[in-house]
Amino acid sequence: MIPAVGYRFWRVDPDDAWTRGRLQSPVAETLWPPLESLSAECQTRPGLRLARAGLHRTEEDRVSPEPGCSCGIYAYHDIVPMTRALREEPFMFGGAVLCWGRVVIHPEGLRAQHVRPLALCRPESPIVQQRTAVLLDEVTKEYAIPLLDLKDLVAYASEFGASYKPEPSQPARRGLDRVRDALSLRRIVRRLGKAIGG
Ligand SMILES: [Zn+2]
Repeated sequence: MIPAVGYRFWRVDPDDAWTRGRLQSPVAETLWPPLESLSAECQTRPGLRLARAGLHRTEEDRVSPEPGCSCGIYAYHDIVPMTRALREEPFMFGGAVLCWGRVVIHPEGLRAQHVRPLALCRPESPIVQQRTAVLLDEVTKEYAIPLLDLKDLVAYASEFGASYKPEPSQPARRGLDRVRDALSLRRIVRRLGKAIGG
């Protein structure tokens, strides 16, 4: 499998003494190690409920992400939902990631076993850009990744892997196909009946 390219965002809080200068997952609060890949671990305890649901039960099943669980490292297929999320919070920065190992594909994005950042993107607002220039310079140096304009992010990231965005499902057409299948089945039955009757 060619590694998957995804887009996500991180919190980089310059006033937090513990996380300073490091990328942090906003939801799981995981700190991303510089110059290394990050590997997923299921944070859900293998309790009764999970076992009953058949999740993470065997050694093999302990590999994260488990398709039926919510674990794994998240990324979007596209930059649009990433930038939408960015506008909502200060000190959130977007970028591209490379994903490999076990990858679970969803309509909006994916959950991966191993991920590493490929690039960060500059905030769109010139004011925010100015306010965060020194911080972003430090972060990208520490992770040895480039700081790109948003418009260049997809072209840059695509050099490293592929998009696994699923084709949009077309329920209307699928319904039609089903009708067509049923019609042709009826035709076959009719023909068969004729053949048997004749
Ligand atoms: Zn899990």
